[in-house]
Amino acid sequence: TTPDALAHWLDQNPDGTLIAGATDVGLWVTKDFRDLGKTAFLNRIPELAGVTVTDNTIRIGATTTLTDLQTAIAPHYPAFAELIRRYGSVQVRNAATIGGNVANGSPIGDGIPALIALGATLHLRSIDGPRAMLLKDFFVSYGQQDRAKNEFVEAITLPKLPDALKCYKLSKRFDQDISAVCGCFWIVVENGQVADVRLAFGGMAGTPKRAKQAEAALRGQPWNASRVKSAMTALEQDFEPLSDMRASAAYRMEAARNMLWRAWAEGDGQATNLHAVTA
Ligand SMILES: Cc1cc2nc3c(=O)[nH]c(=O)nc-3n(C[C@H](O)[C@H](O)[C@H](O)COP(=O)(O)OP(=O)(O)OC[C@H]3O[C@@H](n4cnc5c(N)ncnc54)[C@H](O)[C@@H]3O)c2cc1C
Repeated sequence: TTPDALAHWLDQNPDGTLIAGATDVGLWVTKDFRDLGKTAFLNRIPELAGVTVTDNTIRIGATTTLTDLQTAIAPHYPAFAELIRRYGSVQVRNAATIGGNVANGSPIGDGIPALIALGATLHLRSIDGPRAMLLKDFFVSYGQQDRAKNEFVEAITLPKLPDALKCYKLSKRFDQDISAVCGCFWIVVENGQVADVRLAFGGMAGTPKRAKQAEAALRGQPWNASRVKSAMTALEQDFEPLSDMRASAAYRMEAARNMLWRAWAEGDGQATNLHAVTA
């Protein structure tokens, strides 16, 4: 079937459930015994799957699996591919889609901080046509996304630029674990100055979110240890993380600060990876 046919179906069935990889939806059934009502399986729509790379843009179809995204993104943004290696397990990555990760809107969805740091644009579609927005603006508040009932995620596009991405996922286990904090940073340094910066975090607020104050502490400034320390302090104005069973608020803040320091230290040639894990 086609994206247009899906748009018509969703218009007729605004309370219907879209199913992509079912790695979230499946749990609503097995854990919550939820009746899903009418469902549409997106894997019957070939146009929604796959990654297309053109001169300036990388287009990721909504039903691209994490496994396929990992392969396609590795030559462009290797830190994103490495982050995906920490995503669930091989089985989960083979089923889970990036569109499902975004649409689900979890504050600890691992794909989202990387996409926001890369300056991603989200493409929604409905019977009324396409609608695009910066991905960072999609997440309104905890559990609420800027998506009408008759809209679905069609694709995500990224600018294709020289790589400046770093990603860090902190969880208790290497595999099959949810992030306590995930930090993804786009930091372009030109002539010793920070020319462009986006710092995106998961696990630090009710939504995946950019650290505006920390970014302001770096933008246009010399890229050096003292500015990085200022940005680390500014993170305390950006976030008031929660304590839960994964981490306390203080631990989350300390981890986020240290991720920034690690980005600096890596660029400075210091050894940061004390326990490299290979697949
Ligand atoms: C064992 C296990 C480990 C996991 N590990 C991780 C992890 O490490 N990191 C992480 O971030 N997540 C993890 N997850 C969560 C889950 O895998 C991801 O959120 C995944 O990307 C969801 O994609 P999906 O295709 O399976 O979505 P589905 O379960 O099919 O759908 C999720 C939600 O998105 C909606 N949806 C799906 N596609 C679209 C679309 N195109 N347009 C509009 N709405 C849509 C569905 O209706 C539903 O509301 C894990 C899950 C499991 C079960």
